[in-house]
Amino acid sequence: MLNKKSVDDINVKGKKVLVRCDFNVPLDAELNITDENRLVAALPTIKKLIADGGKVILCSHLGKPKGEPKPELSLAPVAKRLSELLGQDVKFAADANVVGDNAKAAVAAMKDGDVILLENTRYRAEETKNGEAFSKELASLADVFVNDAFGTAHRAHCSNVGVTDFVDGDCVVGYLMQKEIDFLGNAVNNPERPFVAILGGAKVSSKISVINNLLEKVDTLIIGGGMAYTFMAAHGEEVGQSLLEEDYKEYALEMEKKAKDKGVKLLIPIDTVVADDFSNDANFKTVGRGEIPADMEGLDIGPESAKLFADAVKGAKTVVWNGPMGCFEMPNFAKGTIEVAKAMADLQGATTIIGGGDSAAAVNQLGFGDKMTHISTGGGASLEFLEGKELPGVAAADDK
Ligand code: AMP
Repeated sequence: MLNKKSVDDINVKGKKVLVRCDFNVPLDAELNITDENRLVAALPTIKKLIADGGKVILCSHLGKPKGEPKPELSLAPVAKRLSELLGQDVKFAADANVVGDNAKAAVAAMKDGDVILLENTRYRAEETKNGEAFSKELASLADVFVNDAFGTAHRAHCSNVGVTDFVDGDCVVGYLMQKEIDFLGNAVNNPERPFVAILGGAKVSSKISVINNLLEKVDTLIIGGGMAYTFMAAHGEEVGQSLLEEDYKEYALEMEKKAKDKGVKLLIPIDTVVADDFSNDANFKTVGRGEIPADMEGLDIGPESAKLFADAVKGAKTVVWNGPMGCFEMPNFAKGTIEVAKAMADLQGATTIIGGGDSAAAVNQLGFGDKMTHISTGGGASLEFLEGKELPGVAAADDK
């Protein structure tokens, strides 16, 4: 069990609190924020710290300025929008060095309940190298540190990991991080059973460790999406022009053997929607297992597979899903993904967890977002959690 101290376990009254947020938002050419979900998601932790009388110093990265100031990747627009969302001034500490004279002066002038935002932490080359000097500079601003940036939790950078070595006071997690730990960490490791995992997406190779780790924990593992064809090909079946990773056929067989040895039910598609082109306008049809024509490619699971998978999900108490069942971006090949999302949404009294990245995009885009218990905000970080790895950003927070 991961049992980390959170913002609910500390007293920040009158203290300077450095909060690592994920304000990595998309900006258009006029520097307007085109999707403010990440700002809205950060508000509960920030409001709590304001209400408790802390001096709230926010920091984040934005894009990839590669270690130097890039005006188009300044966090200034975020400070402006955050001020509106919070209904109180968020002072922007413009500073090419992030923690330079201007930032220090801004912090020195803070009163309890004030909020400032530092400049993009990746303006500093040391940030992504977890360099000691920048970690110390960040720590020198604060008495207490809060990490609420799950998207970077799988990376050891100055602003989420290095800084914790030099802050004298508590280093805790915010509400967003706590939720990710509760679901992707603890619910997956101590699941209420039956526990079903659904994996899809493009490649076996990017999810090797996820498959291997989840086979230790689940009762049923469902494999769909592009990665299923490598499993089919491993049994000598024709997969035509479908995604195939020849080098992973052996691994697919090993995983099937592991599932058998552990008594885990492993399901792969029994029918496939095949198309004559990688396009929504392609001609397409459904074929049975082993019947993919040599000149066509599988772009979705077929209706029989969708039913098989939906039945396997019924009665589950914990379901974790990572990776779409087909090319859901094209409406003609989104049906399998929709059916699986529906099956999860229909569950009563179950914990349903969606890994970040494409699966989160699919569930939200298809309109099932509010039906799931938890949708992770981190792509790479959520995969590494499902691989059973220790995330540096989580490990660096104080235990309870
Ligand atoms: P991943 O990032 O590995 O989860 O992969 C997500 C991507 O896999 C999505 O963009 C899907 O369109 C793609 N995908 C899913 N199924 C297939 C398939 N059968 N053929 C090609 N791409 C697929």
